[in-house]
Amino acid sequence: MALQRQLARSGTQFAKTSIPRVQSRNLQDIAITRTGKPIIRISGGRSSLGGHTATVFGATGFLGRYIVNRLARAGCTVVVPFREEMAKRHLKVSGDLGRVVFLEMDLRNTASIDESVRHSDIVYNLIGRDYPTKNFDLEDVHVEGATRIADAVAKYDVDRFVHVSSHSASLDSPSEFYRTKARGEEAVRNIFPETTIVRPAPMFGFEDRLLHRIAKASNMFTSNNMQERFNPVHAIDVGSALEKMLQDDSTAGETYELYGPKQYSMAEIKELVEREILKTRRHINIPPQIMSPVAQLMNKFVWYSVMSKDSVAREFIDQTIDPSAKTFKDLGIEPTDLANFTYHYLQAYRSSSYYDLPPMTEREKREEKKYLHVLD
Ligand code: NDP
Repeated sequence: MALQRQLARSGTQFAKTSIPRVQSRNLQDIAITRTGKPIIRISGGRSSLGGHTATVFGATGFLGRYIVNRLARAGCTVVVPFREEMAKRHLKVSGDLGRVVFLEMDLRNTASIDESVRHSDIVYNLIGRDYPTKNFDLEDVHVEGATRIADAVAKYDVDRFVHVSSHSASLDSPSEFYRTKARGEEAVRNIFPETTIVRPAPMFGFEDRLLHRIAKASNMFTSNNMQERFNPVHAIDVGSALEKMLQDDSTAGETYELYGPKQYSMAEIKELVEREILKTRRHINIPPQIMSPVAQLMNKFVWYSVMSKDSVAREFIDQTIDPSAKTFKDLGIEPTDLANFTYHYLQAYRSSSYYDLPPMTEREKREEKKYLHVLD
């Protein structure tokens, strides 16, 4: 530094350019993990090199992209175990070259699970299914699968494990989905007590199964007249909470319930959706005594996700909030309300006859002219 100042005083431009600058790290950048490993924590961008290696199981789903992208763009190496080649392609570009690493995995193949977690210092488990499939029932996915992942995490003494469960998870719930989610929580905590459990409310976003299910269907079949109530949460807020858990080790061993600021019934959400898409969806209510067996048959014989016996049972369960669980507030995040995002996520469902026009003039307002553009 003294040499630099001396050369600068002598008036040479050379002084500024030729002295090599050594990149220095602040002591605060270095964190010691639970297992005593030093890790460089950076707030850097996409091309920076952070110290964390994270494995995200279930990254190919809806929520997955919101955490993979956050980690990769902060310079973490992200290991993405996958089942299907085509399902993971979009994740490759969510980080810089070499930041997102793919590994083929099967939930029953413990060697592939071990391989996916053994280089990581944090593991996220986002694997879940709303309905039973040909090869995996809900117990296989939420309890046995989660147990195998937690076993691998404990075996390689990974620093952190974040397990995504579900809102209303309860051992005595009438829904198998909520029951198996609760049993999964119990199983992972028994194996790895430092597990952070995350219970998201129904999520909305570009790829959700909440707003888009209503916007897409021309006929909606339900059993409870859309009376179930819950606090929908923005997928981006959940992604941001999952990222905070990586940086904050005090979240280890805690349970977080992540829900939005306002409670809605499904019928209220339908109204919001219809207002945005400028169409009305027909709603047909069928009693559960008929709907349940029909849904069970459809789940068995239709190869894509339609409905299941359990999804009918879930219509009769309102979201329950555990007062002892931590929330967004404990992570310093202000959750956003669904109503602020319906236009953003649903504008594509509007007919092409509607398009953005400049604001109405006073005269147009007086004459109550509608902003309707007639094409033919
Ligand atoms: P998705 O259904 O979109 O994705 C689920 C992920 O789990 C996919 O990556 C899927 O892999 C994987 N998966 C499912 N079954 C298996 C299996 N047998 N073996 C291996 N992988 C499997 O879920 P979301 O992203 O919406 O949700 C993430 C988590 O949050 C889930 O655990 C879900 O239960 C929970 N949750 C979600 C809510 C929501 O509103 N979306 C509400 C409450 C909880 P593949 O792509 O190969 O099928």
